[in-house]
Amino acid sequence: MSDVLVILDGASEPIVDDEPTSLERADTPVLDALAQAGTVRRLQTTPDGLPPGSETGIAVLLGWTPDAPVDRAALEAAGLGLQIEPGREAWRVDAADIEALRFPPEVEVHPLGPHKLLAIVPAGYPLRSDGAWPRGITPPHTLDDTTVVVGAPGAALGLARLLGARVLTTDALATAAVVEIAAGAPRVVVHVDTPDEAAHRRDPDAKVAALSRADDEVIGPIAAAIHTHGGTLTVTADHGTDPRTGAHDAAPVPAVTWDPEASAGEELPDDEDLPVLATPKRRATAGATTGRRMTERWVATLPIEAP
Ligand SMILES: [Zn+2]
Repeated sequence: MSDVLVILDGASEPIVDDEPTSLERADTPVLDALAQAGTVRRLQTTPDGLPPGSETGIAVLLGWTPDAPVDRAALEAAGLGLQIEPGREAWRVDAADIEALRFPPEVEVHPLGPHKLLAIVPAGYPLRSDGAWPRGITPPHTLDDTTVVVGAPGAALGLARLLGARVLTTDALATAAVVEIAAGAPRVVVHVDTPDEAAHRRDPDAKVAALSRADDEVIGPIAAAIHTHGGTLTVTADHGTDPRTGAHDAAPVPAVTWDPEASAGEELPDDEDLPVLATPKRRATAGATTGRRMTERWVATLPIEAP
């Protein structure tokens, strides 16, 4: 039986008046069913005084609470599987156009995307770039291979690798997770990066679409696998990302935890497509729904908890 955690990167966002948030706008029947049948909570994933970001929020969700900003470059390097040799150091650099940046030959450059790169330089090298991230602390080895982290290439997997987890780098998130659940992996963590990326592009509709797609393609198959094999499923965000500004947000995030054993109050009718939906769907039809959802507004009055 697996305890599964799905991290929807940057899924939550600040509530502005009566405007629906992306989580409220998204079409998420599986997430809604989990909220109906499970426990909805409000989690503080960004420790006081630290900048909100995946390097902080995912670390907290994985059980390590940093007491200072985390070294983003170390995470990027680990994500690429690079070892930083003694006497060298890594810098994460963001720029509008990385093609336009010029580095001398002693700087080893690894592009990370159109607007970001990793520069590996001799220690103490005066790297002159406005977009260089400040250095920070390197994650300690707190996990082992009983935790497997599944995700697309990037800093989140680098963080998991530095913490000591087993890492599966793939775009086929649900397929990989379901294999692990069927094999009885004790703890399976799935990182979905698409909501955060859409929000950074300041594209609210794309963020909504990314959340709807994650519900259908990732959370649905994982919930079905938990239904079959047992275990628990938690879904949450590592931090907020506002699709109007593209900025991260440190406010507490909504979360849901579902345990099919705990919520098996009535016989589940056969539903080949989504067995997990059967009970909550029926409740909703019967008008007995609690209206409980994993949204910023629904959790706004709940006590703030540590993950
Ligand atoms: Zn982000």
